[in-house]
Amino acid sequence: MVRETKFYDVLGVSPDASDSELKKAYRKLALKYHPDKNPEAGDKFKEISHAYEILSDGEKRQLYDQFGEEGLNGQGGMGGMDAEDLFSQLFGGGLFGGGGRGRPSGPRRGKDMVHHLKVSLEDLYKGKTSKLALQKHILCPKCDGKGGKEGAVQTCRSCNGQGVRVIMRQMGPMVQQIQQPCPDCRGEGEIINDKDRCKNCNGKKIIGEKKILEVHIDKGMQDGQKIVFSGEGDQAPNILPGDIIIAIEEKPHPVFQRKGDDLIYEAKIDLLTALAGGQFSIPHLDDRVLLVTVLPGEAIQPDMVKVIPNEGMPAYRHHNHGNLFVKFKVEFPPPKWADDETIAKLDTILPPRPALPSFGDRHVDEVVMAEADSYQSQKAHGHIHEDDDDEEGRGGPGVQCAQQ
Ligand SMILES: [Zn+2]
Ligand SMILES: [Zn+2]
Repeated sequence: MVRETKFYDVLGVSPDASDSELKKAYRKLALKYHPDKNPEAGDKFKEISHAYEILSDGEKRQLYDQFGEEGLNGQGGMGGMDAEDLFSQLFGGGLFGGGGRGRPSGPRRGKDMVHHLKVSLEDLYKGKTSKLALQKHILCPKCDGKGGKEGAVQTCRSCNGQGVRVIMRQMGPMVQQIQQPCPDCRGEGEIINDKDRCKNCNGKKIIGEKKILEVHIDKGMQDGQKIVFSGEGDQAPNILPGDIIIAIEEKPHPVFQRKGDDLIYEAKIDLLTALAGGQFSIPHLDDRVLLVTVLPGEAIQPDMVKVIPNEGMPAYRHHNHGNLFVKFKVEFPPPKWADDETIAKLDTILPPRPALPSFGDRHVDEVVMAEADSYQSQKAHGHIHEDDDDEEGRGGPGVQCAQQ
């Protein structure tokens, strides 16, 4: 008497069904509910496959009959073998014409290998071909990925090629299952006679190879953009190699900031150039220098932004250029640069000072300023005087009462 019948019910067979009856039932249902044929069936295909995976395995079936799903000890949940793999293992690939879908029934696809390539803004501006050396696995060319002479590789009989063996241990009323690597094939699932073993790969079927890729950095490529080398990933027996993907990482530039196809440049100019015109230079990302003229009277303000059209980055593929935005920092002459005579001249040249606002009937104190540095450091160390009235003649600027 079995404890549960769920898996039998899923396959529509009785618990005393023979192996061939199970297989027949599975085949019929799997064909009906295969996602290629019946995309609306949802997880039904997986359920059928899972039930069959358990019941077609003598040891697992025995455990299930005796203890139910619980007895499968973690193997009871979904997962285990992939439903598609089980299906194609039994019936071969390409049943539904193969191809066309994201998951063909043919060989499995290997992992993609992603490499990050740091590229300077100069190289993204001008374009460049980089050589990238990387290590990958290829099928051993000596044995064609077979690991030895024709027919030398045998499926391990102790583990049926699974590479693991399940050992039962009685723990009181429970049977504990322990999976351990198969000792006969050392977990590899197959056995090769030492004399037939390929010397080049030592029976591993793959060898490491250094591969040089020529990566063409096209003008205008962006940070994060990917260059795909299709099928250049690691090779292994019975898989389609994945891709090598080069992901571009734009290095930060000391001078230019990039915003899409536009560039931003911070220009420091002196006050005279800002007010009266002059020239400044921008070393560009190619070998050119842009000599920029500030027109007399243009009066560049601090933080003002101007634009030099078509001097930004080349756009990817089209190669028409974005714009170069120039953000200004205006550098003033140093403190105390002007003598009285010069200042008198400025009075006659610059626009007049704006009038002060009216203070109404508020009391007005006239003050002068000191350098902030020394005061700030005093405050930071807690040395500032708290009561000003006690201290007379401390030197330096203070407060005078204008007594209006
Ligand atoms: Zn084995
Ligand atoms: Zn080999």
